[in-house]
Parts: sequence; structure tokens; C-alpha cells
Amino acid sequence: MYKKIILKLSGESLGKQGQGISFKDVDRIIAEIKPLAGKGISLGIIVGGGNIWRGSEHGGNLIKSTDSDYVGMTATLINGLVLRSRFAKHKISAALFSSFPVGNYIEQFTLEKVAAAWKDKKIVIMVGGTGRPHFTTDTGAAVFAVETSSEVVLKATDVDGVYDKDPNKDATARLIKRISFDEVIKRNLKVMDMSAFSICRHHGIKIVVFNFNKKGNILRAASGLSVGSLIL
Ligand code: UDP
Repeated sequence: MYKKIILKLSGESLGKQGQGISFKDVDRIIAEIKPLAGKGISLGIIVGGGNIWRGSEHGGNLIKSTDSDYVGMTATLINGLVLRSRFAKHKISAALFSSFPVGNYIEQFTLEKVAAAWKDKKIVIMVGGTGRPHFTTDTGAAVFAVETSSEVVLKATDVDGVYDKDPNKDATARLIKRISFDEVIKRNLKVMDMSAFSICRHHGIKIVVFNFNKKGNILRAASGLSVGSLIL
């Protein structure tokens, strides 16, 4: 079992794109995370906003891309608030932090607050991504992992891992179980942001890409068992 983990949850793990929040999906993800609570693991969850707004897709040419990204970051706040509330409902102790100031209902992130929450055996939920436009939550996850000296980024997504071709476009696409950062970057394999890959490569943080729709995958990935694709 890894001891310090950053779990990147895509917004779509909480509801289909454009449909906002589905409590069925939220509770399903919480049930998947629950086995990690109270195990002495320092778990940070950073959640995206793609179920509500993804800057590059939803703003189109109608609003400035920078503005669209701020809408996207705001979407991650909504997801974080819902997650915190549902964790409480399931009696799982969690603390919520944002990378930028939003008001007294979400505390602003500092490393000290995260360390204190982990000491109190709380799961840490991080929202707001990097706090800057023109990034994504994947990069936020990589930065969060480096800051907290975490061992691994678990990227929970809606495909089984890294493929040699786009599995949605090519039926012959093959899942790659283990691959180096150099190879992912050289072949431009698109399952995560290149900036996230390069930050993790530079700091020696592994990435596991796996499907959140398959039961038990989050626990398997956190336990260091073979699931999805391991990038190292
Ligand atoms: N975003 C941003 N900076 C960040 C993180 C996110 O501008 O550091 C914006 C960006 O528009 C992005 C949106 O917030 O499309 C939602 O985040 P993301 O696409 O990473 O969500 P996910 O795909 O993980 O659900």
C-alpha cells in the first residue's frame, strides 16, 4: 500500500459531462474510496470540473479562453463542496481546501493545513486546480503530489489506461500496462496532460491511470497492485 497518495478524480466520476452532479455516481465513488479511510494513508483527492465545465470545450468562441478556464475552476469548487458534504454523510472525515481564496466555506490551501488534516486522519480534498487558467486539474494533481512529497498520482478516468492509439477511434488500440515517461512523451500518448507527465517525471512520482467505473480499482491502485497503466 502506498503511504502518501494523490488521487485525481475527473469531474465525470461525479456525473456525466454537461449533466452536473449525479448523487448515484458521487456515492459510488465514495464507496470506492471508503476502504482507504482510516488505514494510516495520507490521501489527497484533487477533483476536476469536466462534468460541469471544461474550459476548452464549453466556452467555444463565445467567451475568452481565460474566462472559460475560471468558469472551469469554479466548477471544481462545486464538486469539492458536494464531495465534502457526502463524505460527512458517510461519516468519513475529510477537509476541503482550494488553491485560491473563495470565501469562508472553503479554506485556502496551505501545506501546513494539509499536513494537520492528514495528522488528524482526514482525507484531504483539493479544488481549484493550480489556481491559474490554461492548466488542467491533471497538472494540479502533479503539483500537489510534488508539494506534499507523495509517492504516486492515481488518475481515475473513464478509460482503462494508456493506449497505443485512441481507443475511441481505433478498434485495434492496445492497452499499455507499463510505460516510461520518456516513451509517453515521445509518442505523445494523450491520456493526461503533457505538463503533468513532465512534472511527475522530473520529480520521480509514478502515475497509475485506471478506470474508475470498475469496482475495486481505486483500492487496487492504492495497494500497488496491477491495474490500468503504470507510468514510471
Ligand atoms: N482549469 C484551469 N486551471 C487549472 C485546473 C482547471 O483553468 O489548474 C479549468 C480548465 O478550464 C479545465 C476546467 O477547469 O478544463 C475543469 O478542469 P479539468 O478539465 O481538469 O477537469 P476534469 O477533466 O478533470 O474533470
